[in-house]
Amino acid sequence: MYKYNNFYQKNFIFKIIENDIKSKKYNLIYTRFPPEPNGYLHIGHIKSICLNFSIAKFYNGKFFLRIDDTNPSTENIKYIKSIKKDLRWLGFQWDEEIKYTSNYFNIMYEYAIELIKKNLAYVDELNTDDIRNYRGTLIIPGKNSPYRDRSIKENLNLFEKMRLGKFNEGNFCLRAKIDMRSKIILMRDPVLYRIKYKKHHQTNNKWCIYPTYDFSHCISDAIEGITHSLCTLEFQDNRILYNWILNNINIKNHPQQYEFSKLNIEYGITSKRNINILIKNKIVSGWDDPRLLTISGLRRKGYTASSLKNFCYRIGVTKQNNVIEISSLESCIKLELNKLAPRAMAILRPLKIVIDNLPLGKKIKLLIPNHPNNKNMGYKNIYFTKEIYIDILDFSEVEKKNYKRLILGSKVKLRYSFIIKAKKIIKDINNNIICIHCIYYKNTLGIKIDKKKQEVKGIIHWISFFDAQPAIFYLYNNLFLKKNINKFDNILQFVNKKSLLICHGFIEKNLLKNDKNQYFQFEREGYFYFDKKYSSKNNIIFNRILSLRKNK
Ligand code: ATP
Ligand code: MG
Repeated sequence: MYKYNNFYQKNFIFKIIENDIKSKKYNLIYTRFPPEPNGYLHIGHIKSICLNFSIAKFYNGKFFLRIDDTNPSTENIKYIKSIKKDLRWLGFQWDEEIKYTSNYFNIMYEYAIELIKKNLAYVDELNTDDIRNYRGTLIIPGKNSPYRDRSIKENLNLFEKMRLGKFNEGNFCLRAKIDMRSKIILMRDPVLYRIKYKKHHQTNNKWCIYPTYDFSHCISDAIEGITHSLCTLEFQDNRILYNWILNNINIKNHPQQYEFSKLNIEYGITSKRNINILIKNKIVSGWDDPRLLTISGLRRKGYTASSLKNFCYRIGVTKQNNVIEISSLESCIKLELNKLAPRAMAILRPLKIVIDNLPLGKKIKLLIPNHPNNKNMGYKNIYFTKEIYIDILDFSEVEKKNYKRLILGSKVKLRYSFIIKAKKIIKDINNNIICIHCIYYKNTLGIKIDKKKQEVKGIIHWISFFDAQPAIFYLYNNLFLKKNINKFDNILQFVNKKSLLICHGFIEKNLLKNDKNQYFQFEREGYFYFDKKYSSKNNIIFNRILSLRKNK
């Protein structure tokens, strides 16, 4: 159970709501999460959901999920499914039925007519380019459209024709009549309705005119009785328009909009548009690629719902734009997995070792704990045999400075097992190592090595032929080479070409027999998660959640 209290009392939105409750402005607090169904949710959305959800729950109010579906050209029902799935997985159950902005299209249409009747909206015939040109810039004031002063009657007539599909897309639109010279560009007669001949996933072909975000958002909030409409900082200017619309139509509620800063994470992107670019360019395999910061990607990589929520509670909510360190996210999952994940041996880059002084077929049974600090997690048997695997990175033919692994002619301890000494390398005609011949020291089981003596270089992990089962390991690194990638336009030029490394190696053969656990710490390698969805019986895939090695 989350302590909404702890998280929430730290941020500025809490103080605003606390005052509203004290002054009896509201008794109950209603919030909403309004995703546009044009992509999968990402970690930035979790921040927004955490905030909205915890506020509503803290005051025993309501939290709605509203699908903000005003643009059928970019939306898809599959995204709605994924949004619902992700919210449920995170454990955020919304109140009442799921809401859709499209539920309110009828009412919105009536409000548009109300604005026309009040001479506060008009049908424009400028095309998109002209609208942009007439709008002006920060320095140049906008110009009135030649169609701005039509009569109310004419506007009503044209708007009706727009609805009936009498015009082509882009030729007509409905605009608010505000001020083309306003300092705030958004207030220079914003578009309220546009024509789109596109079948809508909820309303089918009922409509061919669709309200814009600005027109629909405030009305949806008001209809649902939202008290605090929370959004990200880039909507600061939209607040003025939000209030203008609600002040000029006959609607009961007037929610207040407050803005907070977006979540940005080092080396990662949190924008559906950019994620789409990566998918289209085949840089990633899809929305659930574990290198992405989408909820489905993070889930597949092995992040738990609680670790992601803890992260969002930890970073808090401010108006400051900043970039959060990736290590901060990793430390949240590490904290959980350190306790939860059993330890196991896995060899990612196998190198064969032959123990010369152990007869073929002999198996020395070893009892090892599943977790070194939690005996309650039990023990298991592994076997030391004549042929074992170690990692290629744990062997060197020649002496290297500070190298604490196996070197030709010297000794190393095998984790939970014996000390071995490397005697001879066998190579093929291309000079590739085939295997290393070693001897083992019988009486060295369980002894502590004296690192000062330097006789035994260190401890390495291993797996016996007898215990080994083939597995594929997906090792993920940062997807981008730039820390603050969100500030760049052409993100493709900064893609890290080494963001995915695939290794074919071995795991302990009984690792997955207990179907319940899919998280492991592979000794000295890192935390891994079994990729159930993409694995098959003969193709066992593990995703690396995070590495324990210094050189990844
Ligand atoms: P994107 O750029 O990824 O499309 P968006 O803001 O257009 O983001 P919506 O689906 O419209 O995506 O967002 C739903 C809600 O999530 C909005 O209230 C939005 O402000 C919030 N949100 C989106 N991205 C972030 C983020 N990085 N950090 C915090 N909140 C976010
Ligand atoms: Mg968007």
